[in-house]
Order: sequence, then structure tokens, then C-alpha cells
Amino acid sequence: MTTPLRRGACPTLQSPMQTGDGLLVRMGFSGGLCADQLTALARSAQAHGAGQFEITARGNLQARGFSPQGAQQFAQDLAAASLPFRAHPQVETAPLAGCDPHERSNSLALSSTIASVIASAEFTDRLSPKLAIVVDGGGQFTLDALNADIRFNATVSGRWRLSTGGDGRSARILGELDEANAAATTTALLRAIALQGPAARARDLPDETIQGLRRTLDPAQADPPRVNALVAAFEFHLAGQRFARGMVPPFGAIDALTLISLIERSRQQDVCEFRFTPGRMLLALTPTVEQGAAVVNIARSLDLIVEPDDARLFARACAGLPGCASGHLETRVLARRLAASQRFTKEFPLHVSGCAKQCAVRQSAGLTLIGEPTGVAPIVNGRSLDRIETRDLCAIEMCALSIAGERAIASRRPAP
Ligand code: SF4
Repeated sequence: MTTPLRRGACPTLQSPMQTGDGLLVRMGFSGGLCADQLTALARSAQAHGAGQFEITARGNLQARGFSPQGAQQFAQDLAAASLPFRAHPQVETAPLAGCDPHERSNSLALSSTIASVIASAEFTDRLSPKLAIVVDGGGQFTLDALNADIRFNATVSGRWRLSTGGDGRSARILGELDEANAAATTTALLRAIALQGPAARARDLPDETIQGLRRTLDPAQADPPRVNALVAAFEFHLAGQRFARGMVPPFGAIDALTLISLIERSRQQDVCEFRFTPGRMLLALTPTVEQGAAVVNIARSLDLIVEPDDARLFARACAGLPGCASGHLETRVLARRLAASQRFTKEFPLHVSGCAKQCAVRQSAGLTLIGEPTGVAPIVNGRSLDRIETRDLCAIEMCALSIAGERAIASRRPAP
């Protein structure tokens, strides 16, 4: 079975999504993958699909370019490799959960309790495939940027703040509770969501349901906003004297052969696990700092981003041409050239989209370029500018640099 191309659909191994370059499969993992498991995954994607991967903003991995038979074979290969797939609905934890000494509470323990309660609930098959549950233990990686229907944030050891809908800033806080009550409260919430219909989300819950749940919880305060670790550091200290080093494939995209090369060349460094993180990062967990540094050097030689100030981090691009048949623009070629200009920053990021669907980014960027059949539509800080009437990449690049230059001059002008 395949899912047609549309925003909001949720491709899985069992139900891949039709895209311009064939079927797309998205996978979420509940922990790390050892070198052999990740190699098996990459080889199978190369053999049965296009061998193209993307790490998503949510930290999932998607593989592109399968035929229906290829997708089936891929799913069979992965079942044989015993990969730690998350069940539906996904209970997401931070990528270092369970080995992060900075966690206030053990998010792995709570997430596995919630997952087993859900697995045995009678309403699970009536929940939306998009439904998301986040358990954030308060460690080095914040999950505040992820939208979730149900969110647990550790406050102190054994205590959790429960909120629903939105991201870490916009979610509705319901209250605080002990870990022992978390599973029963989650069950009550999920049952209430299921009663709203198969596509329902937490935002659809009636106010009286929310108020009823609030009365069963202790009052809770919001935490101050947390800094996303992706831009703060690429190096993490773990429990048990281990380390994790981060690397980001440009635009989150990496091909199977590059991934295999990274794994094989890193074997001498005793990488214990590879993990995918929100923010499109790949982590390598190593026993020592020196081994982590050696993996970083290998990643750098393979053109992966290993420094948090690399200008390519401030450019986003979907698959576009030639990978996606819906695209009107060679998105990643253009984004790479524009990123090299250093005009795009964390404050004024770039987003290049092959068509109006804008798969790569949901929030508006500083400059967005949207490919159209005969030109490009530029948008600056959410405001549409005159259309660029060409599909010639050099001409589009010049126009985009001119727009970025004008914006830089305007931002230096004193306010009237
Ligand atoms: S936004 Fe990009 S990847 Fe998505 S359908 Fe359009 S061209 Fe394809």
C-alpha cells in the first residue's frame, strides 16, 4: 500500500509515500544503530532504492526512490537486521536519553512505560498516524522545537510537567505529576483524543476535557526557553566516560555510499553507536574524545558539516530537481552556492524549495525561493517580492544575492 504525495501524510516502511522520484520511506528509531545495522540499512537502500537518505528536522531517517517491489525488499532486509524501530504512536525521547548525565529524570524509563501501555490499549488503532508523544528528560538535547500532542518535561527527579499541542513554547500546560501517574494520565488523554475521530489531534480536545485533566494534576510553571544544542555544540559528554560527536549532512541529505564509507572508515575508532537527532544531525558515540575527533576528521573529508558555524547550516533545501519530479529547481545546487556567499545566517536563513509544497521547512525563512514552472517566487521574512522570471541558476543566484544584500543594508539603517 502507498500513500499519495500530500503534506501531512506519514510515510512508513509498511506504507511508503509516492513522491516525484519514487516511493519514500520514513523510519524512527528508539535508540542507536550499531555499525553493522546502519551498514545493512544503507546497502539495502542502495540495492533496492535510489540510495539517497535524508535526516529529517525531527531526527527520523527517510530513504528515497523505491519501486513498490524495492520498498518491500527494503522492509524485509530491515526486519532481518533487527533495527530498533519505534512503534506507533511514536514516543520520542532525546537522542542521548539514557546516557546523558544532565537529564533530570530518566526519560527512557518513562517512554518505555508509556509505549507498553499504548501497545495494549484498545483504542491505539483509532489514533492518527501523525500523533506524537515527546518525553524530554531535560538533558543536553532539548526537544522544545518539536511539535507534540502530548509532552512530558522533567522538572525534578521523578516529576514531570505535562502539556498538550504545539512545541515547547506554545504547548498548553496541564500540570505536574509523579512518574507513577504518567502512564494512566497518558492513557486518559489518548482515549479522549481517539474519541474525537481517527484524524484527531490533541488540539481538537474540548476545553472541558482539558479542564477535567487539569483538576487531577498539580499546578506547573513553564521553564525558560532552552537553547537548541545543535547550534551550541557538536560535542557531548555522556555517562560512563563516553562521548558523542555530531555531524550534519548538508541539507540533511547523505547518499548510501558516503554513509557506508563513513561507517567503514570509523570502525577503527570503536564507534559504539550511530544516532539520528532532531536538527538533521548524525551522532557517533565513541569511548574517548580522541576517537571522536578522528571520526570528525573522517566526516569532514566526506563533506559533512562538523562545525556549528558552518554557513551551510543556515540554508535549507528540499530534494528538488533532479531527485523529485515535482520540482522546478535544482534546489541543493542553488542552496549550496548561495550558502557559500556567507550572506545567510541564523538570523536570516535561506530556504530553497523546488515547488510550492515546501517539504524542507515549515516556518518562514529569511529568504525563501520557491521554484515555479517558468521562474522563482522569492519571499523575504514572509513578504512576497516580484517574481524572478527565469530558471537559469546563475541569474537566480544573482537576484537572491542582491535581495540578501539589500536586506543587510536595510537592517543597518537606523529606524525612522
Ligand atoms: S517541495 Fe521539493 S521535495 Fe517537496 S514535492 Fe516540491 S520539489 Fe519535491
